Amino acid sequence: MATSPDDAVIHEHEQIVRRIVAQRHHDPHALLQVLREVQEACGYLPPAALAQVARSLRQPLARVRGIAGFYSFLATEPRGLYRVLFSDNVTDRMQGSEQLMASMCHRLWVEPGKVSEDGLVSVATTSCTGLCDQGPGMLVNGRAIGHLDDDRIETLCQLMLDRRSLEEWPAELFVIEDNVRRADILLGHGFAPGDPIRAALRRGTQGRSEAPANERSWREAYVGAALGPVAVLEEVKRSNLRGRGGAGFTTGVKWEACRHATGLTRYVVCNADEGEPGTFKDRVLLTSHADLLFDGMTVAAYAVGASQGFVYLRGEYRGLLERLNAVLERRRTANLLGKGILGQPGFDFDIEIHVGAGSYVCGEESALLDSLEGKRGVPRNRPPYPVTNGYLQQPTIVNNVETLCAAALIAVQGGDWYRSIGTLKSSGSKILSVAGDCARPGLYEYPFGVTVRQVLGDCGAERTQAVQVSGPSGICVDVTEFDRRIAFEDLPTAGAFTIFDISRDMFEVARAYTQFFAHESCGFCTPCRVGTSMLKASMDKIRDGNGTLHDLREISRLNKVLLMSAHCGLGHTACNPILDTMKKFRPMYERRLRSRDFAPAFDLDQALARARQMTGRDDPGAHLGNEP
Ligand code: SF4
Repeated sequence: MATSPDDAVIHEHEQIVRRIVAQRHHDPHALLQVLREVQEACGYLPPAALAQVARSLRQPLARVRGIAGFYSFLATEPRGLYRVLFSDNVTDRMQGSEQLMASMCHRLWVEPGKVSEDGLVSVATTSCTGLCDQGPGMLVNGRAIGHLDDDRIETLCQLMLDRRSLEEWPAELFVIEDNVRRADILLGHGFAPGDPIRAALRRGTQGRSEAPANERSWREAYVGAALGPVAVLEEVKRSNLRGRGGAGFTTGVKWEACRHATGLTRYVVCNADEGEPGTFKDRVLLTSHADLLFDGMTVAAYAVGASQGFVYLRGEYRGLLERLNAVLERRRTANLLGKGILGQPGFDFDIEIHVGAGSYVCGEESALLDSLEGKRGVPRNRPPYPVTNGYLQQPTIVNNVETLCAAALIAVQGGDWYRSIGTLKSSGSKILSVAGDCARPGLYEYPFGVTVRQVLGDCGAERTQAVQVSGPSGICVDVTEFDRRIAFEDLPTAGAFTIFDISRDMFEVARAYTQFFAHESCGFCTPCRVGTSMLKASMDKIRDGNGTLHDLREISRLNKVLLMSAHCGLGHTACNPILDTMKKFRPMYERRLRSRDFAPAFDLDQALARARQMTGRDDPGAHLGNEP
């Protein structure tokens, strides 16, 4: 029987799904990876492909559709041949990203958020793509392009209009610089691949009272009282290393809890989902220091007895996947991964990379674990914590990229050495992602305790009025606070250091961050889902000149509601940028207020807009307050 072209396409999509699912060994936990790979092969996720995924993985179709709808990088409608996502961080906007996007849309005859009529291109925005030091940035079919300006936009438009494949595009378009401006103990480590693992094994040998007799005894020794892994664990505890993802939990304590937890298998998970706008340090560590990261993960596996590791790579860094997989393959060949690592019987550990799909909340460790398991990335109720009930409910440590790199340093140099650097409560160094109004944006690594003022001086910032430390959920410091120190006991940070000079409107900065929270709320709990939208609406209302003091008071009240009832940190911190800037830059809010003492229930003039439209009148006399 003859088949229609549509049938042929459906058949082809089903074949693609079968192949990808088979490569993933029909593992239902690989659902998100399957969907991502099917989308890469088909351009989007057509209904027939979703149905085939459900059949092949033996999952309910509703679940498969639910996952496809949850992640912003997954599309169930056709997209353009070229899929352009402009980075929409505040620094991109400061560098003109909105005008550049409008210019591209105009040139290509496409509306933002839609597909052009000829199916050539779709253009939209996404939250920060981690290119703030070389912005404005964008992703085209997942590949990063920075330094956008009018000339680059024209070049890109022409390449798309000529339907040239990305492989034919000039290579310089895709050059992403590391921009390391100041290296310290981590960015300047100089270790060869495997050095930290060799050092860890040496420490283990030195600390062990009697060597295990055979392969089985190594694992038994670990579970019991082996001095080998314990010696490594003790070094990490002695170093007082604290998590670099923002929360600052003590790494050694976390590892120890995992080591002592009951479970069949232990896991090491690297959180490479740095979604905090303004942060890009992981991009550089993953690009140029991947071996140090994998060494750190392997040292962690040795210390806690894990046999499997995962790197959760943010979807925006999808372009690094092949390079990272090549590093993993090289390490397997060198016996730095796999069975009997470096000849140590029973030391079996391997690493797999899982690519995210555009969900900021997956940076929260329990949401990340759910996403790893192929579910929606929604923060779990805690306790229990991942160290006892992590990936597949097994003992799991989740650490940030920078933390694991630091653990590799400690394996070589020791805990006392590490603790001698930094401050009393914050040992070691911190990498800052410096961007915004300064002459030399990029990465700056300092021992903890450096002042904001020194960083500003080093990066060539002038006439600075504020620095947002640790992204939208962090702290906005003004000129009176520039002697504060980057340290857990003063200004803790995951790394973002975004600078605003006196030409910037801090109200607009806070409004951009509020849009970010409203966009990234995962929608799981009502206070955050509704609250972040209300915050955005309030800021837009004030921007439009319709705000009153009542709105400012309402924002403070909303903050209390979110602090009390939101399920995770995103909801808890959603008001931070507004409250900080309202306190420190209040005139920028007050000058926009329509009334300082009157709170209209609704805008009557705005409500009459439709009547004016119907009567074809929009002259000043048709507006309330302008009557003759
Ligand atoms: Fe999701 Fe927001 Fe609730 Fe967190 S607080 S779970 S991001 S809706």
